[in-house]
Formats: sequence, structure tokens, C-alpha cells
Amino acid sequence: MHIKFSSMSIAENIQNINAEIPEHVTLVAVSKTKPISDITEAYEGGQRVFGENKIQEMASKFEELPKDIQWHMIGHVQTNKIKYMAPFVSLVHGVDREKVLKELNKQAVKNERIIDCLLQVHIAKEDTKFGFDEDELIELTERLDSYSNIKVVGLMGMATNTNDKTQIKQEFEGLHTAFQALRKKLGEDFDTISMGMSGDYHLAIEVGSNMIRVGSSIFGARNYA
Ligand SMILES: *Cc1c(COP(=O)(O)O)cnc(C)c1O
Repeated sequence: MHIKFSSMSIAENIQNINAEIPEHVTLVAVSKTKPISDITEAYEGGQRVFGENKIQEMASKFEELPKDIQWHMIGHVQTNKIKYMAPFVSLVHGVDREKVLKELNKQAVKNERIIDCLLQVHIAKEDTKFGFDEDELIELTERLDSYSNIKVVGLMGMATNTNDKTQIKQEFEGLHTAFQALRKKLGEDFDTISMGMSGDYHLAIEVGSNMIRVGSSIFGARNYA
């Protein structure tokens, strides 16, 4: 479905993607399940932003790798593990319930940091995906001031896993509309819209994404043993 750069190196795949996306779009290299050696190769090719979906895997990679890497937590967050990422995580994409926000704030206070995060919006027509619906989102943004050490900088969403481009586009457009409405309310620092993966990032950028999360088009298919 999407272009595979299988015969090319990880660094070349990153170069190719960066060459085709606009400058204002941040590429998050999704390295979940991939070994340190693959991340090092990407790092040596200039990549500094990496995404993981398991907190402990991200924490152990953080320990081993250069400290100028920005680690993004892109997966469903288990609240009892937040403490392991609170000292270093650079952006949490998957804030999908208020309990996560509460615990994230508590751990941010402990670490004397402000933690940036994105609210995950449920845009897919699949029950298996996580996120707030629009009413919950609006209601929640009324209360953000009570989280002293959290900065909500935008929204994140995942489209339905389908080949129907019209449907994916509609879902992305819904997220973009919600993003613009909230930006009016929350101000200019609310500036990040994380949407688009290997199979749909071109479409996502067309619809206004400025952060894409790309795994398999960089590192190859994942092997879940
Ligand atoms: C795994 C994952 C990605 C990357 O998926 P690819 O199709 O390999 O690019 C993006 N976003 C989230 C939330 C993921 O879990």
C-alpha cells in the first residue's frame, strides 16, 4: 500500500521521508520493538526524535542511548508506569483519559518539570482505538489549569485501519477541525497535531498534520515474536 524502501538503509529511508515532507512537519521515528543498533543508525543519520509505545522499553533505550534524543511516548499509557518516563519524556501523545493527566502531573511535580502532552482523540470508527470524544475534549480543556506541571500542546489521533482513503481523510479532517477550534480557545502554544503513520502520512499532511509517526517505512516491518 505504501512505498517500501526495503533495499535502502534506515538512514536513507529517513532522508527520503524528510525530503518529501514540508519543513514544518516533525518526523517521529517509531522505533518500538527495534534494537538499539537500528536506533543508533537512525541517530547517526541525524534523527533525534523517536517514538515508543511501551514505557519500560522506552526507559531502557533512554538509558543506553545519547541524551540529546527526544523520546515521545506514542502508545496507550499505563498509569503505574508513568514514574519511569517522567524524568525524561519529551512529549506524551497518548493522553486518552483524565487519570493519565493526573498521574502525569503528579510525577512532573516530583521531577520539577513541565511535561508536554497531546490529548488523544477518538477519530476511528473502531472500538479498539483509544481517545476522548469531542464533548469530553471540550469539557476537559476547561479544567487544564488545575494541572500545574502539564502543558497540553495539541492533539493526536489514529485513523481507522482501512484502505478507504475517503474515510481516512474524513477522520483526519475531523481531528483538524477540533484542533483549530481548540487552538482558538487555548492559544498559540497549542500548536501540534500528531496524525499520520507509514500508510497514511501523505494524506495526513494534506489535511494539516504537522507531526507524523512513522515506523515501518523507516525500520522495516516489525516482528512481534
Ligand atoms: C506503531 C505506531 C505507529 C507507526 O506505525 P507504522 O505503520 O509502522 O508507521 C504510529 N503511531 C502509533 C500510535 C503506533 O503505535
